Amino acid sequence: MTLERHNRIRAVLDRRQPDLTVLLEQVHKPHNLSAILRSCDAVGVLEAHCVALEGRPATFSDTSASAEKWVPLVTHQTTKNAFSSLKAKGFQIYATHLSERAVDYREVDYTRPTCILLGAEKWGLSSEAAEAADANIMIPMNGMVQSLNVSVAAAVILFEAQRQRQKAGFYDNVRLEPDQYQTLEYEWLYPREAEILRERGETYPAL
Ligand code: SAM
Repeated sequence: MTLERHNRIRAVLDRRQPDLTVLLEQVHKPHNLSAILRSCDAVGVLEAHCVALEGRPATFSDTSASAEKWVPLVTHQTTKNAFSSLKAKGFQIYATHLSERAVDYREVDYTRPTCILLGAEKWGLSSEAAEAADANIMIPMNGMVQSLNVSVAAAVILFEAQRQRQKAGFYDNVRLEPDQYQTLEYEWLYPREAEILRERGETYPAL
């Protein structure tokens, strides 16, 4: 492990945003999942969430830059479970949905703990999810086509969240708890050793 690599890992952890996430409702195409996680990594999302599609595990595209290594995807069995878990952690949920109550995605506040909810390529979000969300947001569409690819929509909104958070100074100070920071630092530096220690139920050594 070089000092340069260690510094790079620390610089990324320094900017992780534990209170910004996405929830993907039955988004299952590997290239879309990978592209979304790549955008999540770029803006500093700590972990992403998805609702399982018929109990199947998520799969990723081989051609991605392995963003899933840096942004774990937490799977929930139902949308209801995902909402309960995120709400219990204090997240407001913005559903990306072209409904009558949808507001322009630039009009909402992403500096509060925020989860961006995205839907499947074919059928979009379930009405249950769109209605239960704190707000519906949309990216204005002025062309002939009705909607964007889900990974493009995710990127547009995540980078607006990053812009607002940068302005508010959220990337200027470390936002992870010290314990969480140290755990991730060890796991990112030494993934194999970390796995062995976890299997043995042992704690990680100090760095
Ligand atoms: N036919 C689907 C529908 O009626 O919702 C279209 C789904 S769209 C291809 C896939 C997902 O991308 C949507 O569920 C939403 O999460 C996101 N999306 C696409 N275009 C969007 C837009 N203009 N504003 C907000 N979200 C959008």
